[in-house]
Formats: sequence, structure tokens, C-alpha cells
Amino acid sequence: MSKAFFIDTTLCTACRACQAACKQWHGLPAEETINSGSYQNPDDLSFNTYKLVKMNECMIDGSMRWLFFPAQCRHCLEPPCEYMAGDSSAIYKDSATGAVIFTSVTGKVAGVDDIIGSCPYDVPRKSDKNHLAKCDMCLDRLQNNLLPACVTVCSSGAMNFGDRKTILKQAQERLLVVQNKYPDAMLIDPDEVSTIYLVAFAPSKYSESASAKAGSFDLTRKMAFKKMSRWFFAKAFTG
Ligand code: SF4
Ligand code: SF4
Ligand code: SF4
Repeated sequence: MSKAFFIDTTLCTACRACQAACKQWHGLPAEETINSGSYQNPDDLSFNTYKLVKMNECMIDGSMRWLFFPAQCRHCLEPPCEYMAGDSSAIYKDSATGAVIFTSVTGKVAGVDDIIGSCPYDVPRKSDKNHLAKCDMCLDRLQNNLLPACVTVCSSGAMNFGDRKTILKQAQERLLVVQNKYPDAMLIDPDEVSTIYLVAFAPSKYSESASAKAGSFDLTRKMAFKKMSRWFFAKAFTG
């Protein structure tokens, strides 16, 4: 059964344990960073940082607030990155979990920048050898009946993981509770992704890439339709 995350940003304390656990589990090196005027560190996702707790200080209803957004791959149900790569040895969707996986072959496919550009949430990052990297849902842990590393260390209840149906129900129920206090609260793109965020305010207040770029999933569907049409006509003419 496909899996999903539910990330309740209203419970996130920005402790960054998830960010550190992700690095630790994947053996990713620390990066040299600079102070960019925020507690957020590092400044952005990278080839060596798959999970980043984004922090934005902004004015809401006349008072300053910190908004926290633990960013990672959304494991899209119809991933534009996979369609753009067009090579299942480079990017594929794990059939058991729904995890979207990048392999070292990404360094050999043409159009790496197009793959990056196709992501509605600005997730993939490339190395100096043109390999792409991002969150892999901790597939190795899932295959050994363990939770993703970032979920195991979150003590506030912000990070949740499980079967998609159960997670969606949990997210919808929690949304109703949160809306009592924050009427604008919403789930971000729950029908498109397997990393479902609950936010109390407009997604753009958290991060520019918190919600999908306009039209990006429509484009994927058009590409998929074209692929199917090509297959259908090839079949029809070759018998
Ligand atoms: S571990 Fe949980 S509370 Fe801490 S930053 Fe990550 S999501 Fe937020
Ligand atoms: S969020 Fe981006 S990188 Fe992740 S599966 Fe979707 S398109 Fe691919
Ligand atoms: S699921 Fe694994 S790879 Fe993805 S953000 Fe969490 S710890 Fe990192």
C-alpha cells in the first residue's frame, strides 16, 4: 500500500532534529554556511541536504510570527521529474511505497536542468557531476519495517508517516481542529502528493515553493497523455 507523510506545521518547533537525522542516516556531510539574516541554516536544500526546516519571520494580523516549514520531496503521485527523465533507471517510483527515487544514473540522462525545472516544488539539486539528489523517503528503512529517520526523531508530533489512506484521514481530521483557531488553515495539494502539509496561513507565507507552481501537474498529465497516444498509435500500426 502506498505511503504518505503528514507534516503538521502548526506543531513544528523548528528544533531541526529531522534535518539532522536525515543527514545522519544518509551519511551526508555538513556544509559551510553563512548567516543570511535568519535562523534558517543552511540557506537552501542542496545535493547534501535533503531536508531543510525553512523559517520565515513575517507580519500576520499586526504581529510578527515565525513560520516553520520542514521542506522535502513531496513524492508526487504523478511525478513531473519522472516523466521529464523518461528513463526508469534514473528516476522511478517504487511500486510498494510510492517513493520517487533518483539513482546515480541521473548524472547520465540528458536534460538534468529540465528535470529540476519540472519539479513543482523546487526540490531536486545537482552535484558538480550533474547527479541529482533529494529525499528518498528512507526507502531502505521502509524495506526493513522502520519509519523514515526524520519521523522517528520528531517529538512534537509534527512529522507523521503511514499508509496513505490513514494519513489522509488524520490530516483531514486535524485540519478541522486547527481551523477553529486559524480559519485560513489548509492542506497543501493533498490529492497530488504523498507529503501532505498542514499550514495555518497561506502557503506563500512559509516558502515560495510550499505549494505547486501553477499548471505544473497539468503539464505532466499532458506529457503522459502524449506518451500514451504515441504508444497507442505505435501499437495500432505494428499490430
Ligand atoms: S523534528 Fe519535528 S518539530 Fe523538530 S523541526 Fe522537524 S518537524 Fe519540526
Ligand atoms: S516533489 Fe519534485 S522531485 Fe519530488 S517527486 Fe515531485 S516532482 Fe519529483
Ligand atoms: S524521509 Fe528520509 S530522506 Fe526523506 S527527509 Fe526524511 S530522513 Fe530525509
